[in-house]
Amino acid sequence: MTTLSNEQLINGLNERATRDGLTGLLNRTAFMELADQEIHRLHTSGSVSTLILADLDHFKALNDSHGHAAGDAAIQAFAAACQESVRHTDLIGRYGGEEFTILLPGASLESAGIVASEISRRLAAAKSPEGITYPTVSYGIAPSSIAGAEVAHMIVAADKALYEAKSLGRNRAVCATP
Ligand code: GH3
Ligand code: MG
Ligand code: MG
Repeated sequence: MTTLSNEQLINGLNERATRDGLTGLLNRTAFMELADQEIHRLHTSGSVSTLILADLDHFKALNDSHGHAAGDAAIQAFAAACQESVRHTDLIGRYGGEEFTILLPGASLESAGIVASEISRRLAAAKSPEGITYPTVSYGIAPSSIAGAEVAHMIVAADKALYEAKSLGRNRAVCATP
C-alpha cells in the first residue's frame, strides 16, 4: 500500500474545496474568485469577457416524477455537455442547484450564444436513463462591458436576461441589454 505525501493530501483537500462534488465543476466560491481575476486581467488589456447563466427548465418536475437520482443524472449530463462545448481556458461553475455559470474570456455575445446552443444540442443528444428525457435549458448572457467588469454585476445582468428567457417560454438564450 502506498501512503500519500502531505503535499498530495493538501492537493486533494484543495481540489475538494474548489470543486462541486456532484459534477466536478468549480463550486460557487471558486468560480467567483477565478472569474473575477480573469475578467480584471482581460479588462486591463482592453478585452471583454462574457458570462452565461444557465438554468435547467422545469427541473423540479423531473425530480418529482422520476426521483432525485434522475435529477442528479440530468445535472451531471448538463455539466458534461458544458465541458464538451467550451475551450479549456473558459471557466464553468455550479452556482447552486440546477444553475450554472460559464465565463468565456474574450468572447463576444454572439459566440456566447453559439456556445449556449451547442450545450443544449449536446444535452438533447446525450444518452439518458431509460424513460427519462433531460430538460431543456434557458440562458441569460451578459458581457463585462455592461457590468463594470465585475463578476457579481455580470451575474445580476445575466439573471435578468435569464428571467426574460423563462418568461418568453424557456429553452432559449437572451442577451442582457444595457
Ligand atoms: P424553472 O423552469 O422556472 O427553472 O423551474 P424549475 O423547476 O427548474 O425550478 P425550481 O427552482 O422550482 O426547482 C429547482 C429544483 O432543483 C428544486 C430542488 O429541489 C432541485 N435541486 C437542487 N439541487 C439539486 C440536486 O443537487 N439534485 C437534484 N436532484 N435536485 C436538486
Ligand atoms: Mg433555478
Ligand atoms: Mg430551473
